This record gives sequence, C-alpha cells and structure tokens, in this order.
Amino acid sequence: MKPEVEIYDTTLRDGSQGEGINFSVRDKLRIAEKLDAFGIPYIEGGFPGSNPKDLEFFQQARRRKYKNAKLAAFSMTRRKGVPVEKDEQMRRLLEAQTPVITIVGKTWLLHVTEVLRVTPDENLAMIADSIKFFKDHGKIVFYDAEHSFDGYKDDPQYAVATWQAAEKARADAVVLCDTNGGCLPLEITRMVAAAKGKLRARIGIHTHNDCGFGVANAIAGVEAGATQVQGTINGYGERTGNCNLTSVIPALALKMGLACVPPKSLPKLRELSYFVDEIANFKPDPRQPWVGSTAFAHKGGMHAHAVGRVADSYEHISPEAVGNSRRVLVSDMAGRSNILVKARELGFQVHAETPALKEILGRIKELESEGFEFEAAEASLALLIQKYLKHRELPFTVEAYHVSMRGNGTSSVCEATVKVRVKGQSSHTVAEGDGPVNALDGALRLALSRFFPHLTRMKLTDYKVRILDSATGTAAKTRVLITTSDGKREWGTVGVSENIITASLQALADSMEYALMKQ
Ligand SMILES: [Zn+2]
Repeated sequence: MKPEVEIYDTTLRDGSQGEGINFSVRDKLRIAEKLDAFGIPYIEGGFPGSNPKDLEFFQQARRRKYKNAKLAAFSMTRRKGVPVEKDEQMRRLLEAQTPVITIVGKTWLLHVTEVLRVTPDENLAMIADSIKFFKDHGKIVFYDAEHSFDGYKDDPQYAVATWQAAEKARADAVVLCDTNGGCLPLEITRMVAAAKGKLRARIGIHTHNDCGFGVANAIAGVEAGATQVQGTINGYGERTGNCNLTSVIPALALKMGLACVPPKSLPKLRELSYFVDEIANFKPDPRQPWVGSTAFAHKGGMHAHAVGRVADSYEHISPEAVGNSRRVLVSDMAGRSNILVKARELGFQVHAETPALKEILGRIKELESEGFEFEAAEASLALLIQKYLKHRELPFTVEAYHVSMRGNGTSSVCEATVKVRVKGQSSHTVAEGDGPVNALDGALRLALSRFFPHLTRMKLTDYKVRILDSATGTAAKTRVLITTSDGKREWGTVGVSENIITASLQALADSMEYALMKQ
C-alpha cells in the first residue's frame, strides 16, 4: 500500500514532553515495535543530542528489524558560526544510524533575531547546511519549520525564504509546524495553500492542541495539500498535547478516504491507544473520540431503542472499524430496549416479547433508586437478569458471617468468619486480613473453595467505596464496587447497604456467583 498521507509518529519525542510521561528505553522500544506492527511509516525515536536515554534507544533500536517503519532521529539545525561537519550535535545524529533525520529550524524572525541571535541570512545558511549535510550522507531528511504559521503571519516573505532554503537543500518534506498551537483551522488551510504555491517539495503538517484544534488543524492542512501528518498516540505532548493520531488516522481513512495505514490495521486502533496508555501508566480517557470506552455508549432509552434496530441511526461509524464496540448503558433512564440489547450483549437469548423483561426492568429501577449502579457492575446485572429468566437455584447461600478487628496501638488485624451452605452442606471458615473486606473475601473464598476449587484462582483487583447522599435524614448508604479477575477476564459487581461490610459482602458474593455461572 502506498499511503496518500504519510503518518509520522512523534510519541517518543514530542509526546514524551508531556507532563507525567517518563518512558524508559525499554518502554520506547516496546512502543516503537507496536507502532511498526501497526503500520506507521515513520517513528521519531528521540533527540540523540539531548540526553543519554535517547542515545541508548537508538543504539538498541539499531539491532532490531522494523517491518514497516523507518526510524527518525531529531535535532535542531547546526549551531551558529560552526561548520556543520564540526558540530557535535550533527555527529551524534549520524551516530544514531537512522534512515531518517528530522531537522527543526526557525521560521519566525522574532526567534531568529531574539532567541537564536543570528542574522536572517545566517539562519537560512544554518537550515541549508544542516539539511545538505545529511542528504550528502544518503539520509531521508524532513525539515520541521518551527513556528511556521506565526512566522508567516509576521513576515510571509521571510517565512517562505526559510522553507525554500530547505527545499533547495533537497529536504524530502517541509513540515509546517503550529508550534504554539494558537491557529484556527481556516488560517492553517490558507497558509498551507500559500506554501503549496511556493514549493514543489512535499508539505507536512505538525500541530499542537492548545486551542483544541490539534486534529482539526492537521485535517485542514491535509485539505490544503499537506501529505505528511505528524502527531502522537492519544495526543500526548507538552501543555495540552499534540495532534492526536488516534483521531487523525480514522478521520483520514474513514471520512476522507485517504490511505494512511494498512486497512487491516484500523480495527487495531483501540488496542494501540490502550497499549500506549498502559506503557505510559495512564488510565485511558473514556471520552476519547473513536477509541474511548464511551465513544459508542448509548444511554437514553430512545437512542438505545433506535441503535438496537438500525445501528447507524445514532453512530457516525461502525465501532468495530476502529476496534471499539457498542455499549448500552443501563441506568434509571433505561427503557425496555436497553435491557433487551444489554441482555443480548451479556449472552442471554431474549426478544422483545420475553415476559420477564418487564419484571427485570422494574427490579433494576427499584435497585437504582436504592443506590445501585450497574454501569460498572455488569456481572451483578447479568446475575439479576439470569435470576428472572432461568429461575435457577442459587449455587450457594451465606448463612452467617462475623467480622472483628483487634488493634494494639501500632498494628491491627481483622478476622472474618463466614458460614456458607451449598446443596445442603455447610462450610464454616475463618480468615485474617489487613482490612475487614480483605478478611471477608478470604473467608468467603475459603469456605466456597471446598465445593468449587477453581474459585481460588480469582483475585479481587479493585475496590471502590462511595458514600451516597442521604436525602431522608437516615443513615447514609454505602455503595461498593468490586472488580474481580481470574487472570483472563475481569468483571464488576456492586453492593449497597447502610453498612459497608454488608455492601461489600453482597458485591463479593456476586463476584463469586458470577464466576460460577461463567465457568
Ligand atoms: Zn511539536
């Protein structure tokens, strides 16, 4: 596939400037590998002159094979007054041994005279010398024209002169950068079109999201003729971040019909987004366009009803196209059709005339008014639906329990006893824990493991407590949400009570009952 728009990923360089991001060399190698497998043609690995970590990344990356991607090393133009071949930075760039070199230089006279403190002509020479040097070494050279748009607004003639200097030195692309992220899409379209009129070289676009237009501005650049888009996965980057590739890629491919990544990769977009968040140790943003968990979530009864009938009635694309999936949220707005869609999603065979639907809906509304919340507790919801549909016997009942705590000033220990009944047989166990819920979880699991040994593989992975407002002046209620994992899957359960231990026990019992139902 020959891309009509080339994607240039700078997650590892510009993206790593974002607050809270600190990639190790290993992290960078893993991300590069993932981007390559996805089919990104250019991966900027770092700034080898700026820190030893980036140098080491290139040393390690050199020994690896990339199927689709070419690695790029990034640097500023040569220093003022130093011949390019004597410049230490330039030497380090060569040592990175990447097929691509990206050079950033000044477009805006303000930066030339006030920041660099060189004459306008010396700046042009610095751009030309640096690019020519790497072209003579057989490299693909991209020229990132910093502050392209602010520079052009200030002095269009000089801005164009810098881009032409890069073109004349044989840059493979002149990439116009909205470094401060302050431009509007219309301005970008206008100025990229003007650049196109002055250059024969390929034009690229590199935008930042300071006005919330990072993605819109990249699209505006492409509409005006740019054929390379630079950005980062999940929009990581300094301040408010860079152009988000997880939005730009599907917009180019699905909305504009422009080839940019292999078509078979597009359904892996969500996975790529989550992978990079995972490595960066960020919780994925649920509201992220295209790939977020709420991107195709329907809550209103009417929407869910329509989506159940004709999927695209309330969806701009099919969620599967980017590896996402439709979710129907169950809430107090839930109508019959929400339950129907949700029940099918959970694997139940139901149709609009199933008589139990009405009872299920009534029960959910009742529980929600008591403070239950099923959006993150689908396993509890599945048990509830199953109870009404199949009327099957409970696999176990908790007959009695007791929790106590002993402390001696410096340390404390909790102890729980639980008595369960399974098919006429009882089991009574005691467990200790570093908190009451931990002890209760241990005791319940131990009691049940006599009958269902595989429950010992399950682990409680998250526990959240919310105190619900009390409107009636009685004791406030506590809602407990628990996430359990068996190593392969995770599921959420909920409990609500005025007593935190009781609420926890409900959620724990549901999590184990669900594991038994799914085995
Ligand atoms: Zn940037």
